[in-house]
Amino acid sequence: MIHMLKVLDIQPVTHNVKKYRLEKPKGYFFIPGQATEVAVNTAKWKNEFRPFTFTSLPEETHLEFVIKSYRDHDGVTNQLDKLEIGDELILDDAWGAIQYKGKGVFIAGGAGITPFIGIFRSLEEKDELIGNTLLFANKTSGDVIMESYFRKALGNDFISVLENEQIGGHLHGRIDKEFIKNHIRDFNQEFYVCGPEQMVKDISKILKELGAKPEAITFEK
Ligand SMILES: Cc1cc2nc3c(=O)[nH]c(=O)nc-3n(C[C@H](O)[C@H](O)[C@H](O)COP(=O)(O)OP(=O)(O)OC[C@H]3O[C@@H](n4cnc5c(N)ncnc54)[C@H](O)[C@@H]3O)c2cc1C
Repeated sequence: MIHMLKVLDIQPVTHNVKKYRLEKPKGYFFIPGQATEVAVNTAKWKNEFRPFTFTSLPEETHLEFVIKSYRDHDGVTNQLDKLEIGDELILDDAWGAIQYKGKGVFIAGGAGITPFIGIFRSLEEKDELIGNTLLFANKTSGDVIMESYFRKALGNDFISVLENEQIGGHLHGRIDKEFIKNHIRDFNQEFYVCGPEQMVKDISKILKELGAKPEAITFEK
């Protein structure tokens, strides 16, 4: 079912990521980690739907998304970047495979962090966040979405990895096989992977090689 929803608030998150707060339709339901198709309600863009993930909690009175914009590209995220409070978005129903199945290791690249924001917020509410680990890969420290939130919520179980910058508080490199071997001891737990398609493929393969059960690796298919 399609819903027309007004934008209630827009906040910057990083140099190319913003947080959008929207009206929530009565009875609208999703599970933390799920996404929906979104279009901008203007004559030119109303049929261009793209998937984005809820970062709000199902029981909250508004919907929230954290969205990275590709400003050099005339697509939907560039239009979202230009939105103002009061503008309208079109949303469909929620869908998606990513949801919490038990304690484990969350591995995200860039905007692939968004399903884990909703999941972590809901675990925090229930006091069940402890025991989960986040490995978060980005190019530079300026790209790390909601870094202070993850540091506060996860403490030493938040590991930030930067490919193009060496700076205190972050590891330098890529999340490859060596990295995973050095940072994960227990492969008999849940794994959640979200990010660019190739990263998800590569990391899922490495996790299986290192002993993770295929059914314990959650990613968007
Ligand atoms: C299930 C799911 C959930 C998602 N949730 C989120 C989320 O919560 N937050 C979020 O930020 N993203 C999310 N994404 C990614 C998001 O859907 C894409 O970034 C978005 O569809 C891009 O739309 P666009 O119209 O701007 O780009 P499109 O026109 O659809 O282009 C597609 C891709 O082209 C690439 N591109 C960038 N610049 C250029 C260029 N100059 N020329 C050509 N191609 C370029 C980008 O990688 C872009 O993703 C999600 C994706 C999936 C599958």
